[in-house]
Order: sequence, then structure tokens, then C-alpha cells
Amino acid sequence: MANKRVVIVGGVAGGATCATRLRRLDEHAEILLLDRGPYVSFANCGLPYYVGNLIHDEARLLLATPALFKERFNIEVRTRNEAIAIDREAHTIAIHDHVSGRDYQESYDELVLSPGAAPICPPWPGVDLPGIFTLRNIPDSRKIRTWIDSRHPEKAVIVGGGFIGLEMAENLASRGIKVTIVELANQLMPPLDPEMAGYARQHLISHGVQLLLGDGVAGFEHSDSGGLIVHTQAGAVFEADLVLLAVGVRPETKLACDAGLKIGDRGGIRVDGAMRTSDPHIWAIGDAVEVKNRITAQWELVPLAGPANRQARIAADAICGRNSHFDGVLGTTVCGFFGLTVALTGATEKALRRAGIMDYQTVYLHPNQHVNYYPGANPIHLKLLFRKQDGLVLGAQAVGGTGVARRIDVLATAIQMKTTVFDLENAELCYAPQYGAAKDPVNLAGMIAANVLRGDVELAPWNDLEFTEAFLLDVREPHEFQADAISGSKNIPLGQLRSRMHELPRFREVWVNCGIGQRAYYACRILTQSGFCVRNLSGGFQTYAALCRVP
Ligand SMILES: Cc1cc2nc3c(=O)[nH]c(=O)nc-3n(C[C@H](O)[C@H](O)[C@H](O)COP(=O)(O)OP(=O)(O)OC[C@H]3O[C@@H](n4cnc5c(N)ncnc54)[C@H](O)[C@@H]3O)c2cc1C
Repeated sequence: MANKRVVIVGGVAGGATCATRLRRLDEHAEILLLDRGPYVSFANCGLPYYVGNLIHDEARLLLATPALFKERFNIEVRTRNEAIAIDREAHTIAIHDHVSGRDYQESYDELVLSPGAAPICPPWPGVDLPGIFTLRNIPDSRKIRTWIDSRHPEKAVIVGGGFIGLEMAENLASRGIKVTIVELANQLMPPLDPEMAGYARQHLISHGVQLLLGDGVAGFEHSDSGGLIVHTQAGAVFEADLVLLAVGVRPETKLACDAGLKIGDRGGIRVDGAMRTSDPHIWAIGDAVEVKNRITAQWELVPLAGPANRQARIAADAICGRNSHFDGVLGTTVCGFFGLTVALTGATEKALRRAGIMDYQTVYLHPNQHVNYYPGANPIHLKLLFRKQDGLVLGAQAVGGTGVARRIDVLATAIQMKTTVFDLENAELCYAPQYGAAKDPVNLAGMIAANVLRGDVELAPWNDLEFTEAFLLDVREPHEFQADAISGSKNIPLGQLRSRMHELPRFREVWVNCGIGQRAYYACRILTQSGFCVRNLSGGFQTYAALCRVP
């Protein structure tokens, strides 16, 4: 029998991984890897740090070269070769060689599409002016570096406050550039719930980044001084010497569309669990495909390197006759800027509501990443979502410094294992003073959630504050209360509560708050056992302040 011939379109995260996995499974397959760009297997995730000069040497971004693919894996790589059409009947692919200018054809037994997603570049007036960039590959990052090195820009506008925009804000600032972020949504990092994104907002402002939220770009023009002027829809005007467009990415589906492959409602290539498209001999992986969310069961576009790599292995397995299956995504993501780490996994409250899933409860907590007495303790702001019915963990978001990614990874694994908050309470996690606490933030999240499900405490959501007629009780110390408090609340410090209970209404619900929810929980237990009807304001003043006290 003739050797299987596999052609792979796109030679970076998904394509390169698929090619090498295929080789490990089938020593005899003919494997051809095409990329229209000058490189394969480069680190797109490292590009912001190359612009910021944290990574000095461009060659460090190249994880493997065509020569290495040939020598180590016997895989033929053709860079600057673009797949331009698929003939599904004939099992051939038309290719344009950008170096020689010639068009030619290759046959395939199996075809893998991993063309990725392109930065969205809306047709705004002036969007093609020099000094306006997008960032997807090494040539893009080189152009931005060259612009910085030769023009010494003083001001940059980043359009889009998502993960790439924020990473780039830090990296441009580290080059001495004053950064403004313009974001159409009312919050940064749109996948997060707004109150969690509030921490990122505060942090960026404290690092001198100017933010304009809830306003979009209308267009660009040259300024008299030779720079750029950015106009927003609401009429704001910014001067900039450099503009980065980071408003999201769109799956590259032209090849698939032209070939009549099924495209899903979200605009990505539709695949089955083995990453097979609507054609049994064509497979698709990475940013170009739609994936099912494991919690909401909705189709989504999740342009992340982890899923692309996992899908690549699954497609290779399936091509080689193995029974591997992609189970969907949790969207587990982490991003860091100016020393802040933001991470999330599973469903957010927004995503649950969008999917019509209302049987959920949230808890907020703000534990330190390690014991308070060990130097360098800093809070992790954590939000956990779980199913009311049985405590199944649905999602988590965390913001803080060190230790954030570790907790989200534990919770991501917990969600994949379909664990409940009762399991989190009892999870055995490593501890020493410099790393955590005997009750790790993950345990604490489970304990708080389990307390709620057992009926030990009832929570009041912070976003119902403006509608409530409840009596608001603040159990912090007077100096904390005087510094800032929820308007209309009464201060009785926890230590005085037992002796001053008569000051509280017997026939009106009492909502208790403190700094982070812990003292309020103790107060709730005291008051509940004394016959009061009480609720703990979820996440305490810290959660409230994250949204309501931003300058
Ligand atoms: C600046 C930046 C930072 C990122 N940071 C992170 C991060 O920190 N964490 C994370 O999880 N993800 C991150 N990502 C996303 C991650 O890089 C992608 O999810 C991942 O690379 C997707 O892999 P892919 O194979 O689908 O596409 P890509 O890696 O984009 O590769 C697609 C390749 O296909 C080529 N191609 C397209 N069409 C054709 C054609 N017709 N013929 C030939 N070649 C073609 C393209 O030139 C491209 O080289 C980042 C992305 C960027 C741009």
C-alpha cells in the first residue's frame, strides 16, 4: 500500500504540532507543511515581549526551522507557499509560491487546515496610514520595533483592551511610550465579568496608562506634527506616534469556504470531535475552528495556543486511525501586565447568562497568595461560580500577583474532573509559608461556597445593592469605615456586635459587609443564631470598590 500523503496548511502552533505528531505515529507518511509566511513554528505568544525588548534576539522566537523539520522529522516544509484553492474531488490543493511567483498543485490523501486567525482591521478612514500596526507574526513585530527604534514615539494608542492590547500596553510603556487604550466595551478584557475587570482597570491607571472605555475609534488622520490623530465615535481626539489595532481576530476561513466546507454560526470552520470537517479527508484545527464550550455547550471561537496544540494531536491521531476526541474548551487563559496577573477558566457569569443557565451562584474572596506573616503577601481576588443544585464548579476568575495562575490551573483541572465545591473544600494542596496557606485560596473558595450551599450563610450580590431595602451593616473598624463606606450603612465593629445587637432591626433583612467578607461571615453567624434575618454582602467592600470606586 502506498504511503499516506498528508498536506498541512499553516505551520505554526496547530500545523507544526500536527505534523510532528503525525510523524511520531507514522514513520512512512509523506508530510508536507506549507506556510505563506517566511517562518514556521514561531512563538506568536512571545511577540509582545520582542516588541518590548524583553526578548532581544528575534531568533529566540523561532522554535524550529525548516531544516530541523527535515532533519529530525523528515517533514518537508515550504515557507512563502500559500494554499489558494482546494479541489475536494481530485484531492489536490493549488499553491502559490510567493518567491518564484508560480502556481502549482499538490495531491493529498488527508489535508489539515491550520491557517489561524487574522487580526481584525475595520475599514476606518485612515487605517492604512503609516504608524498603524497589527501584531500577528514576526514581520509584524519587526515593523513595530523598527518604528520604535527609528521614530522614538512618545505616545501610543492601543485600540482594544483585550489580552494582546494589555500585554502590548506594558511592553510599549517599557520602551518609554505613554500609552492610551481605547476600548469600545465598558470594561477591559471583555471575557471577564465586569467587576473582575475593574481590578485591571485600577492597576493600569495606577501605572500611568490612560483608558477610554465605552467608546470606539472612528478614524485616523495625519497630524500637523507628522504623527497621527485618533478620532473616537464620541468625539474624543488623541495624538499618537504609534497606533496598535488589537480589536480581536477573525478565523481564516477563505480556503474552507471556497471549498464548500461547513462554516459554523460563529464564523469558524465546523469540525467534529476528531477535528474532521464536513469533508471526511479534510481536518481543521486551531484558531480557524469553532469549539464547543464544555460548560455552556455553546459553539465559540477560542483563539488560544493550548487548544490549538491539543486539537493538532487529536487530528494527527485520527488521521492515523486512533480514537482520540476533543472534548471542547474551558477557555482557560492567563495574562500579565505591570505585575498584575489576570486568569480565568470555565464559564463567567456573563457566559452563563448568555447561554440561559441561571442555576448558578457566585462567591468572591480575597485571600493572600500565601500566609500573611510571610513577607510579600498580596491578595488574590477570586470569583468562583458553581451550580446551586449540586455545587458543581462552573468557572473561576482571579486577579492578583504571583499565585493567580496556579489557582486557576487547579480550578481548571477541577472543572475538567467535574468536581464540586465540596471537593474543593477538601482538596489537598501543597503548602509552605512562602507558597500558600494551610487553607489554600482554592480550599477557601470551596469552603465559602459550601457554606452557602449548606445554608450556613446567605449571600447578597453586590450588584443588587442599589435596589435593596435591607438594613446595611458594616462590621469593619471605625477607621476603615471612615475611610470609605457604602452610603447609608451603619458601622458596628464586629467586636461590639454582641453588645449592640439592639441597634439592629428585627423585622428587616440585614446585609452585612466588611473588607473581604470574612468578618461579615462571623457577624452573620452571630446574628443568624440570634434570630436576625441576615445576608453577607458577597466579596465585601473590596468587590464593591472594584466596580464602584474606580476613578
Ligand atoms: C501577539 C499574540 C500573542 C498571543 N499570546 C497568547 C498567549 O499568551 N497564550 C495563548 O494561549 N495564545 C496566545 N496567542 C494565540 C495563539 O498564538 C494562537 O491561538 C495559536 O497560534 C493558533 O494556532 P494556529 O495554528 O491556529 O494559527 P497560527 O499559529 O496563527 O498559524 C497559522 C499560520 O497559517 C498560515 N496560513 C494561513 N493561511 C494560509 C494559507 N492559505 N497557506 C499557507 N499558510 C497559511 C499563517 O501565515 C500562519 O503562519 C497569541 C497570539 C498573538 C498574535
